[in-house]
Amino acid sequence: MTLPITTYGSPILRKKSEPVKEITPDLVELAQNMLETMYKANGVGLAAPQIGKNIRLVVIDLAKEEEEHDPIILFNPEVEPEDGDNPLVSAEEGCLSVPDIWANVSRPSHVHLTYTNEKGEKIDMRNITGKFARCAQHELDHLNGVLFVDKISAADRAINESKLKKMAKGKK
Ligand SMILES: [Zn+2]
Repeated sequence: MTLPITTYGSPILRKKSEPVKEITPDLVELAQNMLETMYKANGVGLAAPQIGKNIRLVVIDLAKEEEEHDPIILFNPEVEPEDGDNPLVSAEEGCLSVPDIWANVSRPSHVHLTYTNEKGEKIDMRNITGKFARCAQHELDHLNGVLFVDKISAADRAINESKLKKMAKGKK
């Protein structure tokens, strides 16, 4: 089942999400529905606030179009930059909740990611880089009410300001 995607201007996207206390079959089903929603919208990641729920749940699938689906479901994920030589890297991002805007965002290149999967197993991944690192940081920002457009340059912000205002209009 696909779910309606919450878009820019909705207060749900600005709230800090609550930890998941117990991984129930209902929550796993919700995650499956989030994946279906994400695939239909051609996204690579989706956080629960984007389907209107302020809980700490994210789904990611970085498989290429011609490849088999390779989904991961992350309950209560945490991400932090790795210590040491860890330069910021800039790359273009977009967001299913902020349609038709793409802009560069700088983020640490190496991150440490932990989460609990749908089987209740604790996963600990060190030194993640590339698209996975970027996507994990973008999606986890959603759980803290942060959107990628908060992190773009002033120039990109100015270019997109009218689009953002239009999107937010009428939402409360
Ligand atoms: Zn997003």
